[in-house]
This record gives sequence, C-alpha cells and structure tokens, in this order.
Amino acid sequence: MSERVDVEQHRADVAELLAELADRPTEEVSIHREVLGRVLARDVVAPAPLPRFRNSQMDGFAVRAADVASAGPGTPVTLPVAGDVAAAPGEPVPLEPGTAVRIMTGAPVPEGADAVVPVEDTDHVTFNGIHDDSVTKVEVLRGRDAGEFVRESGSDVAEGAVVLRAGTVLAPHHVAAAAACGIARLTVRVPVSVAIVSTGSELVAPDGEPGPGQIWDANGPALAAAVRAAGGRVGLRLTVPDEPVIVRMGLERAAALCDVVVTTGGVSQGAYEVVKEALPEVTFRSVAMQPGGPQGLGRVAGKPVLAFPGNPVSAQVSFVVFLRDILRQAGSLPPLAPVPAVLDAAVGSPEGKRQLLRGRWVDDAGAGARVAVVGGPGSHLVASMAAADVLIDVPAAATTLADGAEVTTWAL
Ligand code: AMP
Ligand code: MG
Repeated sequence: MSERVDVEQHRADVAELLAELADRPTEEVSIHREVLGRVLARDVVAPAPLPRFRNSQMDGFAVRAADVASAGPGTPVTLPVAGDVAAAPGEPVPLEPGTAVRIMTGAPVPEGADAVVPVEDTDHVTFNGIHDDSVTKVEVLRGRDAGEFVRESGSDVAEGAVVLRAGTVLAPHHVAAAAACGIARLTVRVPVSVAIVSTGSELVAPDGEPGPGQIWDANGPALAAAVRAAGGRVGLRLTVPDEPVIVRMGLERAAALCDVVVTTGGVSQGAYEVVKEALPEVTFRSVAMQPGGPQGLGRVAGKPVLAFPGNPVSAQVSFVVFLRDILRQAGSLPPLAPVPAVLDAAVGSPEGKRQLLRGRWVDDAGAGARVAVVGGPGSHLVASMAAADVLIDVPAAATTLADGAEVTTWAL
C-alpha cells in the first residue's frame, strides 16, 4: 500500500526536491539570435549616453532661440540659411549668430544652436530633399525657447546607467534598447532543461500509424509544450516501451542530459507499472487528488525525477499543479496566481479528494466571473480538456458545492 499525502504536502516535497533549479547558470547570447523570453542574468549598463549626441527632434531649422524670440505669425523673423545638416556621418560646422541651418530629424545640432524651429513654423511648407541650394533664407513664423525640439545627449539614458535590469524577460523592446546602446551580446540565464519520458508499449508518435491496440502519444507533445510555455527547455523527449531495463536506460540517459526528468505512465496499480519497477529508489505515493493521484518523486542518477500518471488529463493536471510554478519561477516568469470564480451549477465531489475539474468561463473570463464544468471526470478526456479554460479547484473536504459557490481556478 503506497503512502497517502495531500496535494499541498506533495507540492511542498516537489518544491524541496527541485530547489536546485532556482540557481541558474548563465550564458552569453547574441541579440541577433533567439533571445526572446530569455531572462537577463545581469544589469545591462549603457556604455555611452543615449542619444549619443545632441540631435534634432524635427525636420526644420537649427537656430539660436534668442534670434527668433520675437517671431510670430504677423512678425516673421528672416534668417539667412547657412547650409544644411542631415542624419548622416560627420560633424556640422558651428552656427553663426543671426543665421539658421536646415536640419533633419536625428541630425546633430550644430554648436551655437540651441533650438530647432520645425519646418511647419516657417515659410518652407516641406523640404525637397537634402542639400537644396535654393534655400538661402527662411522666414520663421513662431519663436522657440532654448532647448525646444533638441534631444540632449544622454536624455534617454546616461552613460553608465542601467538600461535593462537583471531578471528582465527579454521582449522585442528590450532588444531595441540593447541594440540602440551598441550592445550586441547579453548575459542570460540558462533555462531549466527538462527530459520528458513517455512510457507505454502502446504509444505511437502523433505522426505515426497506430496498429491494433496502439494509441498516439499525447503526453510527450503536451508536456513539451507545457515546459516551453513555462520558460523551460525540452532537453530530451523519449518514448519507451514497458520494459523496465529499457525504461531505466532511458531515464539514466535523460538524467545525464537534463536538469530534471519527468515521466508519464507506469505508476498506478496495474500489472505493468514499469516506472515503479525501473526506479526502486523513487518514492511512489497516492496524492489525494483527482485526476493525478498516483505520483512519484525522487532522484535518478543524481537528477530530480517526477513520475506523473499516464492518462493525458492526469499528466497535464500534474504539470499544472506540481511543476509549472517552479519552472516559471526558475525562468523569472510571473506566477500564475489562482483566480477566484463562481460556479455556474452545483457540483458533487468525492470526500477526501481534491478535484481539479475542467472549467470554462461562461460569459466573462477572470476574477469573480462564472465558470462551468466541461466534460466528465474521466482522466482520458483530452478533447474535453481542450475545451477548458481553467481547472476548477474543489477542496478535498467538499462533497457538494452549490450553484453560485465561490471556487478558485488555475489557468491552463
Ligand atoms: P498507465 O498508467 O501507464 O497505465 O497509463 C494510464 C492510461 O493512460 C492508459 O490508458 C494509457 O494507455 C494512457 N497513456 C499513458 N501514456 C500515454 C500517453 N503518453 N499518451 C496518451 N495516453 C497515454
Ligand atoms: Mg503505461
């Protein structure tokens, strides 16, 4: 008779077993490679100010603000145009007092100029391309204060200041900031590598042809997807037949290659409980929950191993309840907090077993909304589970919950 524990006890034991996953090694990656979703291991510091140099925010005319202070619609100020400056390599010549230069967005503001008058505030409605020698003078129709439309060097980030914080989960806008600062390599945490071992002589890959008595492997692809969604990496995917020696070989290989090993199947009370046979050093127990009762935890070849049951709904629920938060935390993803909801109809529940029913939002989704049970309790009902939005958590002590009862839900 295997040991019986409640869900919280098993969660705590799994968390203790997997505590080592929190301490991630680091690696350097190029921003030109796949960095999305990776977690920054160190603060990124700007090696130079950003903007790198004082530049224009508008297409217009760089001036001394004092020279155009009196300009207004009825009182234009006319300045000679001494040249122009584009967003192009090179340094502009300093601006002489009482003159203007045509300037393009992003171009360096010449020394001596302290404001930019947008082209719309002059008698030039638009520009006709750079180096237009026909522009010899400009009528400024509106005065500008010193600093207007001038982007100061370092106004976005100062040299030596932190641009990106350690722990940031990299998204496109973070890549933009690194690139703009001239940082092409980032130090990120190595994600947790998970080995997924599906056991069962009846299993065929989803792109294979099942013979009599064979079924397609749902757990391998499902758990691989779940691991990736939780910020982990799938280090190995194996399907092994119900032969203890082969299962053992597969598990040792998995342990050698990955940080943690997850198995499915072969842990309940049948005649071919191959994972139990192959892992004599692992604890197998009955967790008071449905689905997902039979669970194993321990180590194989020094690496943590979690043994989930084989029924596909049980395997997925086991991942959500026992492993997802730990992987998310190791990958610096925010926890998926339980969401309170209201039952749309009464449900019955066996005494002493926490139920994780498949549920669907009725009208609105989210905190306080109504949720309905979808499909039956069978842990083989994969299609019913695909129709679900959440798992409805029915406490172990409850035998019935009334229509309108408050429950908590786990996002899927
Ligand atoms: P087991 O605990 O190995 O007896 O598996 C329980 C049930 O889940 C059996 O009906 C298996 O055929 C089924 N099962 C086990 N592993 C998988 C899998 N990877 N994909 C789909 N069904 C599975
Ligand atoms: Mg099996």
